[in-house]
Amino acid sequence: MNHFPLFADLRDRTAVVVGAGLVAERKITLLRAAGARVIVCAHAAHPQVLARAQAGEIELRLGEFDPALLDQAWLVVAATSDRAQNQQVADAAATRRLFCNVVDDPALSSVQVPAIVDRSPITIAIASGGAAPVIARRLRERIESMFDPALGALADLARRHRVRIRQARPHLRPRRDFYDWLLDGPVLGALRRGQPCQAEALLDQALATPNPPPKGKVLLVGAGPGDPGLLTLRGLRALNEADVILADRLVSPAVLALARRDAHVIDVGKAPGGPHATTQARIHALMVAHARQGRCVVRLKGGDPLVFGRGGEELQHLKRHGIAYEVVPGITAALACGAYAGIPLTHRNHAQSLTLATAQQQTGETVGSSCPDGADSRTQVYYMGVQRLPALRAQLLAAGHDPGLPCALVEHGSRPEQRTLHATLDTVVDAARRHAIQAPALLIVGATAALGMDLAWFGETLRTPSAHHPENIRPQAVA
Ligand code: SAH
Repeated sequence: MNHFPLFADLRDRTAVVVGAGLVAERKITLLRAAGARVIVCAHAAHPQVLARAQAGEIELRLGEFDPALLDQAWLVVAATSDRAQNQQVADAAATRRLFCNVVDDPALSSVQVPAIVDRSPITIAIASGGAAPVIARRLRERIESMFDPALGALADLARRHRVRIRQARPHLRPRRDFYDWLLDGPVLGALRRGQPCQAEALLDQALATPNPPPKGKVLLVGAGPGDPGLLTLRGLRALNEADVILADRLVSPAVLALARRDAHVIDVGKAPGGPHATTQARIHALMVAHARQGRCVVRLKGGDPLVFGRGGEELQHLKRHGIAYEVVPGITAALACGAYAGIPLTHRNHAQSLTLATAQQQTGETVGSSCPDGADSRTQVYYMGVQRLPALRAQLLAAGHDPGLPCALVEHGSRPEQRTLHATLDTVVDAARRHAIQAPALLIVGATAALGMDLAWFGETLRTPSAHHPENIRPQAVA
């Protein structure tokens, strides 16, 4: 962060603007909207600035810039077309340790004026540190279109009734539900239709309705493989409703950073080889205990919660204890690793089916899919494969798979540190050892794996000499 964002209270505080052209006039408008006392100093003034002075809205001093003028100021804006003059103003401000914005000159400015979306009392400011004002303006346009124009009126209504709302809904969770209702319900509609009295009446009516007892629930949410862009909108919403978040080890910090600031985050990660049963029992107990206290519990899991994540067992436990739940799917590692390593999981010429398997059974044994007819036209994806890789390879070979079958190991899929190792069934174990591939990593086995050598677009791609060139992959029967 190269600029620290602040919202300044300028009501009845003096801002000095040097320059009185149209550029200055735009800044004067903003400063006046924020309630600042504005003194404008310039050799000559644009008619609009003159008119303001005549109306007594601003104080206009025509003539040379006098640095002593800044002694009264909280904020300085230099908006002349003369850079030397702007520099002089910036220097005079710096001597007095006053923040100074020089319009369209980030090098001379000690403070930036952001692009603004105004839904007063809600203000959204976007700044690029002077690096790309055009991008900031484009973002502003987008944000403008996202928020209802009546949002300002709604925030104002909420401000006026804040104390009453707090009294009527003393507990945080019902109060948040009430604010959600304000945002999503009929009050905003009434304000949009220009019926503020009806909006007030609706709010009164809702506040008079007794507080429903808080109902706890558990949301089983898939956090996706790591890239926060792969979290679903429903997942994001759940993270913002959560009172308590029980997060797995695989959940990336970038996803957790999107959660409500005051949510209580509990790390319930299971280290591989650790005492799984105890940890799982603790997770079950935490979910039930927090939900029974009326809290919204988000059980956040890497990838999809119902793919190799013991999510099914957790739902059964909740069901047995009569706790309400919802499930929000996530992008599972197989889909993410396929996409981010440029490996199509099915392909008309190479793979007509796809299996997702785990290299680790509950008993600790590895599984290897049998290959009944020798010719394999499917893609097999193995989760939790790093530690069990040698055993898995042996099992796949014993099941009749060709040692030359292409394999790809995708490590930290979709994260900035992603590495994809291309090898064959024969060489994959040695290659993984040589490149020190770590968990989490996913093994993709089948002809399609080799296509990633050509189609890769993200992260680092490692090839072993034995890896097939994609052009040499023999097409399989077309379905
Ligand atoms: N529920 C998760 C899977 C949990 S099992 C999902 O749907 O993705 C944990 C295994 O998933 C890891 O051992 C690894 O094989 C795989 N995995 C999860 N995230 C991964 C990632 N970002 N890159 C590669 N593999 C990943």
